[in-house]
Amino acid sequence: MRKVMLTGDRPTGKLHVGHYVGSLRRRVELQNTGDFDDIFIMIADAQALTDNADNPEKVRQNIIEVALDYLACGLDPEKSTILIQSQIPELCELSFYYMNLVTVSRLQRNPTVKSEIQMRNFEASIPVGFFTYPISQAADITAFKATVVPVGEDQMPMLEQTKEIVHKFNSVYGETLVEPKILLPENQACMRLPGTDGKAKMSKSLGNCIYLSEEPEEIKKKVFSMFTDPNHIRIEDPGSLEGNTVFTYLDAFCRPEYFPEFLPEYEDLDELKAHYQRGGLGDMKVKRFLNNVLQAELEPIRNRRKEFQKDIPAVYEMLRKGTEKAEKVAAETLRDVKAAMKINYFDDEELIRMQSAKYTEE
Ligand code: ATP
Ligand code: MG
Repeated sequence: MRKVMLTGDRPTGKLHVGHYVGSLRRRVELQNTGDFDDIFIMIADAQALTDNADNPEKVRQNIIEVALDYLACGLDPEKSTILIQSQIPELCELSFYYMNLVTVSRLQRNPTVKSEIQMRNFEASIPVGFFTYPISQAADITAFKATVVPVGEDQMPMLEQTKEIVHKFNSVYGETLVEPKILLPENQACMRLPGTDGKAKMSKSLGNCIYLSEEPEEIKKKVFSMFTDPNHIRIEDPGSLEGNTVFTYLDAFCRPEYFPEFLPEYEDLDELKAHYQRGGLGDMKVKRFLNNVLQAELEPIRNRRKEFQKDIPAVYEMLRKGTEKAEKVAAETLRDVKAAMKINYFDDEELIRMQSAKYTEE
């Protein structure tokens, strides 16, 4: 079977370190294994518009930011097709037919949609497009016949919804769509990286992010004002790791080689954690270490981004080419879908023959 990867991001802001550990880092690793027949990375502007209808300019401005972040992280247009969702009308058409396979109550049960509705204070005024975005996401995934979708934990309900649509479609209309597999981060801390404020998820919408393109001073400021254990007041007090964002970030970013480089008096993260829990290790020291780790991780990304920023027209050209290539694939899937549903009347010679026979026999 072909191996195809698809993932994407909403262009509602620059990408942050939550995206990086939740999905982006994995994409680049998978891309570089060379194991995939095709890789599609989608800038989901149409999805971003479902809750930004009155602010299309924000979405428009951020397309290039997301593309630059991709390139900065090492996504390579020679190996991965980067595309803009709204420029592929086939995706809308697929969504339209999938909508008939999903009930309103099923969408209402989607826990991610539920919490996002709450976060956005939509209450009774939920845009229909936003409510149905899990269906459009199923269209995105199936249009490219994706087999693997590397995403953060918040996307689990979306993948479940997609699988249900695939099963339903295939059982009603015959084997047509490919079932995708979700690929979650291996590390618990990366599943859903908390915000710098300690809130459950770093998210552009919550304004609690460290961006991939952030300058060193900003990173430092954010690290030093980060949420730790509120009961760890004096250095000698025992500290707790539970909900301690600084340690969660170390779990997500620390590599063994950072200890000899920045904190040689400790063997590894386990030793550092044990000392913190025992008491006698101050928050400032841990934050200083985390700052060094993040600076080391983000510096090469920031520098590469600056290189790509020098030729913006080339980035748009890359997006145009990627989108064109992706549209061909989506068009093929749409053709298969319509043939399976038998709504390909003009290509269906059998249908035309049958219908004319009905009248010539009279
Ligand atoms: P928005 O607030 O506009 O929804 P977002 O920050 O949630 O933005 P998305 O574009 O919705 O970002 O998510 C893109 C990808 O990044 C998804 O695969 C998602 O699972 C992953 N992701 C986003 N935030 C995090 C996080 N804090 N931890 C781990 N993965 C994340
Ligand atoms: Mg999101």
